[in-house]
Amino acid sequence: MQISELWFDPSKCLIAGQWVAPAKGELLELLNPSDGTVLCEIARGGPEDIDLAVASAHASRESEWGRLTAVERGRILSRLGDLVLEHSETLAQIEALDVGKPLTQALADARALARYMEFYGGAADKVHGETIPYLDGYTVYTLREPFGVTAHIVPWNYPMQIIGRSVGAALAMGNATVLKPAEEACLTALAFADLALQAGVPDGVLNVVPGLGAEAGAALAEHPGVQHISFTGSVATGSLIQAAAAKNVVPVTLELGGKSPQLVFDDADIDAALPFLINAGIQNAGQTCSASSRILVQRGIYNEVSARMAERYQKLRVAPARQNLDLGPLISARQKGIVSGFLEKGRNLDIAATGQIIDDAPSGGNYIAPTLFSDVPHSHPLAQDEIFGPVQVLIPFESEEQALAIANGTDYGLVASVWSRDGARQMRLAKALRSGQVFLNNYGAGGGVELPFGGYGKSGHGREKGFEALYGFSQLKTVAARHG
Ligand code: NAD
Repeated sequence: MQISELWFDPSKCLIAGQWVAPAKGELLELLNPSDGTVLCEIARGGPEDIDLAVASAHASRESEWGRLTAVERGRILSRLGDLVLEHSETLAQIEALDVGKPLTQALADARALARYMEFYGGAADKVHGETIPYLDGYTVYTLREPFGVTAHIVPWNYPMQIIGRSVGAALAMGNATVLKPAEEACLTALAFADLALQAGVPDGVLNVVPGLGAEAGAALAEHPGVQHISFTGSVATGSLIQAAAAKNVVPVTLELGGKSPQLVFDDADIDAALPFLINAGIQNAGQTCSASSRILVQRGIYNEVSARMAERYQKLRVAPARQNLDLGPLISARQKGIVSGFLEKGRNLDIAATGQIIDDAPSGGNYIAPTLFSDVPHSHPLAQDEIFGPVQVLIPFESEEQALAIANGTDYGLVASVWSRDGARQMRLAKALRSGQVFLNNYGAGGGVELPFGGYGKSGHGREKGFEALYGFSQLKTVAARHG
């Protein structure tokens, strides 16, 4: 796949069903993380484009989209899912070029996008209100209604999955959407929008305005015509988005970062745990909000787990996305700088093992060897801060109580897992862990479209995925009828 083979013009925005140049005519360079070369130019959208996109979304709600029944909306989304699946190999190749992720991982993302459309297409006509017993002579019921126009600001790490879970659920509930993809990776957002038109999503229901966060993103978050904001990204930007939402008094869903732990007890099945312990840290080169960057291991098996993880780490290979090895490059030179800064902070710590960057990796690529630190103090920045790179820390613990205190001892709370054969311990910890998701004897970094997902603490608030997202993208109306 070459960029010249794209069937849409990547320098355009999609507004009201038309591919249009950004109002100011300005473009941004999109870089290939695998070698640093310019892939193509993309639109540098701004407030004028956002105004048009929001207006077109409102117009679409007032015409065809607002009049469709839930089952008709669902059928369109299901058709879109089929089209995504049909084009999944191509979408994966585009994503591999744009994000730098190995092809197999990019293909998993494309299939997840198709699955989101299948799930939300099927769910669209299954969300309904309730009747409520009330006073004699009354009938009371609730209606679930769309907000109207929803904004979706997404990051570069899993564009397809994040668009699937947020835009998919919003559309299923009958909202019209404006999507602002990340400036570092926006090609599959544009490809998806084109497939949506082909599937019969009416003009203006899905608008896409690429551009910089501080320009297109801020204009969208602050826009008075937006009635709900869904944001996935950093804590710092999430805080700005929440302030913008507060100004317009609109709800906001924030999916932010994490420092997700896996707790491995002496009685754990180590063979079963090992692939999860490692993959959850190195998947997408560690640039995963739900990455498991902290591995807490009970003292009795600490040396064994550490040695066996180290053995596997030494075999990990980092290469350009197209070579489809274990890890690709990081998204940008900036991200590589951030991760290198953390490695520097850990220079006095023990390194259990590192993986290898292949010898002929292009010098312009943003490559970092995966690194496993051992015996890291719980208070160290490597054990507290989100790194967003292929770095994991091993932390020993003595007791369940201590493991829980360490696990809950960061600002974040996105995902956690417990590896133990003791059922009572599993239940105790599932309740006590401050985390939006808890896995028992497994770990799902981002997996499962059916599973509500979101954070405790600085990992954010609101839930996406599953049926919860449908409730989140709708508002509840209570109707009380007095009939005597
Ligand atoms: P980021 O917050 O800088 O950017 C995310 C999106 O917000 C991009 O589209 C960007 O253009 C936009 N943006 C930036 N500044 C903005 C502003 N002032 N107003 C409006 N929009 C703005 O984050 P990033 O560096 O792209 O992503 C990395 C971070 O995102 C990590 O901390 C990671 O944990 C988090 N993340 C979380 C999840 C999740 O589901 N919880 C998923 C992916 C990434």
